[in-house]
Amino acid sequence: MSNINDTPSANEVSQALARALGESRISLDPARLSGHAGDWSEAKRLTPALMVYPRTPQEVAAALAVCTRLKQRIVVQGGLTGLAGGATPRGGEVALSLSKLNAIEDLDTVGGTVRIQAGVVLEALQQRVEQENWSFPLDLGARGSCHVGGNAATNAGGNRVIRFGTMREMVLGLEVALPDGRLLSMLNRVKKNTTGIDLKHLFIGSEGALGVITRLDLKLSPKPTSACTALCALPDFEAATRLVRELQRALPALSAFELMWSDYLTAAAEATALRRPFEDDHPVYVLVETLGVNDLSDREALEGELGKALETGIVCDVIVAQSVDDTQRLWAYREAIGELLGTLKPFAAFDIGIPMPRMGEFVAHVGQELRQRFPHQMHLFFGHIGDGNLHVLSGPHVSATNLHAIEQIVYGATADAGGCISAEHGIGVIKKDFLHLSRNAEELAVMRNLKALFDPGNILNAGRIFG
Ligand code: FAD
Repeated sequence: MSNINDTPSANEVSQALARALGESRISLDPARLSGHAGDWSEAKRLTPALMVYPRTPQEVAAALAVCTRLKQRIVVQGGLTGLAGGATPRGGEVALSLSKLNAIEDLDTVGGTVRIQAGVVLEALQQRVEQENWSFPLDLGARGSCHVGGNAATNAGGNRVIRFGTMREMVLGLEVALPDGRLLSMLNRVKKNTTGIDLKHLFIGSEGALGVITRLDLKLSPKPTSACTALCALPDFEAATRLVRELQRALPALSAFELMWSDYLTAAAEATALRRPFEDDHPVYVLVETLGVNDLSDREALEGELGKALETGIVCDVIVAQSVDDTQRLWAYREAIGELLGTLKPFAAFDIGIPMPRMGEFVAHVGQELRQRFPHQMHLFFGHIGDGNLHVLSGPHVSATNLHAIEQIVYGATADAGGCISAEHGIGVIKKDFLHLSRNAEELAVMRNLKALFDPGNILNAGRIFG
């Protein structure tokens, strides 16, 4: 096991962790270790030196204290669905999994809040609160595996940001284990709280660089009782910008506006063996969803607005889901990203933010350049366009040089368009060479100061975000 100042041996570390947490919390089993070798990104997979599975927040804090004392590097792992390589172990690291901290501790059905441990899987939380007529509206394709602690660490976005915001907007309070072994409670169940500096925001979206999230207080929304979904075919991207404006103005229940360019829809239909939704091919498709309380009036409102859009030519064709099966089928095109990440490996995947007025031109220009330079690969454009978040998936690319060339093209154009290099997946190891394109030197210096303040030994998630 390598370590910062070549002090502890593998034995020393595992014995110290076993003494602090108990033997049962440590594993050196090769099969277990290989299951923790990496996330969904193309970061190089590496088995950790050993696994730690704490069962309480106090045990997380104790593990960090041991690692700080022994100068042993440690990586935090949630559900390992990340796409930036942040949870993928680097040489000699111990991996700490939150998977055993998975209790939903207290559901407040009066105020609409819930206190959970960080390893609760997103879908399990969604289902539990729905039993009590509440909803946790964060939603993303990895819902069946990602942890809510991981969602907070990455400030996850997903399909419903247009209505409910990112994870940051849903977190009321946090508890965090710090590298020095302190358990910092910022737990808070009240929705308004202006008592000094709101420290929890330092930990949301900082990808485990400053501390390990152990528990969360979350804000819930009333459970919707009606959901309407439609897939629209559009003549161009400009029509999509007009449609989103119209729908946001007319439909307060609008909860998703997911854009797919033609090549994405074709690849998604192939990957899922679904029929193409429309007879004709169209340049752009939009999946629209409303979540409300009245099936009949919500459907009438959506159909009314889409009818107007058909008349004015903003929309060329539309399918409105008539059943739960229809709804699932329409969403399946968008959710095919899970399959596409598998079939296009090795891929370059991007989650950039582009100002809406520049988006159409960006896709046309970058698409053309990628197709010219790499004619044998697929280059798919799609995203949560209601909030300016564009995804690009390009692959398969066998050569690392190609992957780097594609990153240069996409991130260069992103910076030129005044966008950001990550709108929701984070920086991890995959994007750290490009962070300077989205953050200025002063911002980077303050980030490094914060890292040094919380983790002076640089033991926690070292080498992520800023190298
Ligand atoms: P991990 O992958 O385990 O870790 C991610 C980062 O957070 C790492 O740096 C890790 O060290 C850190 N971390 C994890 N848990 C903690 C903790 N408790 N405390 C401190 N640090 C921690 N993301 C979106 O935002 N929107 C999407 O729409 C979306 N769709 C996806 C679809 C698919 C098919 C896949 C595979 C991924 C998708 N993602 C999406 C990416 C991913 O699901 C999110 O980034 C998710 O929030 C990661 O959670 P996780 O528990 O899997 O974290």
